[in-house]
Amino acid sequence: MASTVTAMPARMSAEEWQTRCDLAACYRLVDLFGWSDLINTRITARVPDSDGHFLINRYGLLFDEVTASSLVKIDREGNKVEPSDYEVNSGGFAIPSAVHMARSEIACVLHTHSIAGCAVSMQQDGLLPLNQHALQIIADVAYHDYEGTGRNPEERARLLADFGDRHIMVLRNHGLLIVGTSIAAAFVATYRMERACAMQLAFRQSGAEFHPINDDVVRAAYDNVRSRLAGRNDPTRSEWPALLRKLDRIDPSYKE
Ligand SMILES: [Zn+2]
Repeated sequence: MASTVTAMPARMSAEEWQTRCDLAACYRLVDLFGWSDLINTRITARVPDSDGHFLINRYGLLFDEVTASSLVKIDREGNKVEPSDYEVNSGGFAIPSAVHMARSEIACVLHTHSIAGCAVSMQQDGLLPLNQHALQIIADVAYHDYEGTGRNPEERARLLADFGDRHIMVLRNHGLLIVGTSIAAAFVATYRMERACAMQLAFRQSGAEFHPINDDVVRAAYDNVRSRLAGRNDPTRSEWPALLRKLDRIDPSYKE
């Protein structure tokens, strides 16, 4: 990924520029895969080796307009830490900030209002153990009840308690909140959850009778601590370079 460093501004660390390029790519990929919601929702990333600094999108951009240099650096309260003409949705950073600050291993917090994710968030039973895709992540899925759009500071503690050390959270009647130890890990976990949600919707809409999975297999999936730790397996070296090649073929301007 050396090519992503060529446009790096002076006085910026190579690590921050690389994070900017990866985060801009993540915004573009979320849009490309159909999970964006106009200018709403956000993906944030921790600036490596910084004292509580994060990168967030310039508020008002569509996700396919986000570039590395347009990302805004903010502190844990959502205040800009460098001069910037760009505005940020600092109120929307409250929940991601709480996760970033409570879990130092988390590099990226990805929030979506995707159709499949929202649809499963409305279903009483949440993600069901219906197939291999669901079983591979089901032990890593947490749930948090909807408390309205008011940003009650007390909700942050409840959300963190509900999340625990999992990586995929269903925000009931709202959407998904997915975290990763890298931007790549957060994106790939989102992809896996989206696929599982879409498969559940397709099956339920079919009205067909369910072919059951052996109880022992289902139980093992819920007990599988390794799958719960899946978010800590970093796909930076596997899926992510392939996804960046895909973006580069379509539009490499995310690196600007
Ligand atoms: Zn939302």
